[in-house]
Amino acid sequence: MTQQSLHIVVIGAGVVGASSALRLAQAGHRVELLDPRGICGGTSYGNAGGVHIGAIQPFGVPGVLWSALKMLSDPQGPLLLDWRYLPRSLPWFARFLANSSARQMAAGAAATAAINHTAVAAWRDAAATARVSDRLQDVGWLKVYDREQDFLHAGTERQLMQDNGFPFEVLDAAALHELEPALGAGLRFGMLQPGSLFIDNPGRVVRAIAEAAINAGASFHLEEVRHLRPAHAACIITTNLREITADRIVVAAGAWSKSLAAQLGLRVPLETERGYHVMLPTPERSVSRPIMYSRRRFVLCPMQEGMRVTACVEFAGLERGPDYRRIEQLLPFTSTVLPGLDTTIQSRWLGYRPSLPDGIPVIDTAAEGRVVLAFGHGHLGLTQGPATALAVQALIEGSQPPFPLEPYSARRFFRSEY
Ligand SMILES: Cc1cc2nc3c(=O)[nH]c(=O)nc-3n(C[C@H](O)[C@H](O)[C@H](O)COP(=O)(O)OP(=O)(O)OC[C@H]3O[C@@H](n4cnc5c(N)ncnc54)[C@H](O)[C@@H]3O)c2cc1C
Repeated sequence: MTQQSLHIVVIGAGVVGASSALRLAQAGHRVELLDPRGICGGTSYGNAGGVHIGAIQPFGVPGVLWSALKMLSDPQGPLLLDWRYLPRSLPWFARFLANSSARQMAAGAAATAAINHTAVAAWRDAAATARVSDRLQDVGWLKVYDREQDFLHAGTERQLMQDNGFPFEVLDAAALHELEPALGAGLRFGMLQPGSLFIDNPGRVVRAIAEAAINAGASFHLEEVRHLRPAHAACIITTNLREITADRIVVAAGAWSKSLAAQLGLRVPLETERGYHVMLPTPERSVSRPIMYSRRRFVLCPMQEGMRVTACVEFAGLERGPDYRRIEQLLPFTSTVLPGLDTTIQSRWLGYRPSLPDGIPVIDTAAEGRVVLAFGHGHLGLTQGPATALAVQALIEGSQPPFPLEPYSARRFFRSEY
């Protein structure tokens, strides 16, 4: 290795932190990975498993206020807001709405496309190192529609994919049922995005990546970072157990990163979009890829350990306990997608998507390059984790990043045009 070996503390052992720890340990740095919830005890555990590279359309699109109000008023809709939390989330919503012009939507899609074009190769590399390539399935991502109006409404999404180089196939009812024979007869259209991958056990895969980092020389510690501050040519980190002086810090604490960034003087408007899953028994007649049902906005994910249903975007912060009622109300609709699915719930889970109002993560440095910020991946953190790790390594080593990092700047929130 020509690069100087640095002592690096990575905060957070989700997909972003674990992937970064692996890259940095492989490059010969002395890496300490810290997380009080263990390895992959956060949001990276329970997601839909999609390395969903075609999902580049930001949620902030022209007319989003109207469609959000409609969703909020639908008692079976996917969007939930704890009104007591509204005063705290209002600044995030204001920025979200201010960011939803056609121009900003196109810019957001292009920024997401840049990182997503790197995602599949980065995932294959990380999974091969961690010896879990068999859990990465080359099956694409399938969105299904029973109403023509929903299919037509998704035209912008398809246009953005076309403009940004993500091929897709539009399927009529016959082609859809030929591809996935177990799907319900009422489904009339499909959109297959074949370049995407499916990870059928994200928890196991992220743990394997962290273990590969440990095999490459990193260490893992069950510790919570309470304070961090840059000191002369170094960083001082205070955990619940000790004080660490390191050369560099990587903040990869997902939805919990806001207060850590604030300690560096960066008031990043990070919110959490909470999301749920329930696990159901493995069906006898199943599907071979994740299926997103557009009308009800849930995903059926044929996981290694059973059928996972993921759903909901809930604004209620990090402290309030889970409310499983909405996802449970959606379960009867799964029969439209997969008739005969046994909806006996085996387990429930709540996760915290780390979300920025423009739908793009922060991948940047602070404290004169001593701290790397890598958080805010929202709905696409699983997709973008290993690609983000490549950028983290480039920022630490001063090498060429794998994609231009300008759109991911933390300072974008402090510019006057924002
Ligand atoms: C229902 C649902 C479905 C999803 N489906 C997909 C999908 O199909 N594809 C996709 O790409 N993405 C999906 N996502 C989003 C994706 O899961 C997240 O974007 C991603 O997991 C975020 O990864 P992370 O490493 O940033 O955060 P996390 O996995 O949350 O990890 C952050 C870690 O930081 C730790 N931490 C926090 N504070 C501290 C501290 N002070 N000190 C030390 N450690 C700390 C936490 O304990 C946590 O383990 C989904 C999310 C949800 C909720």
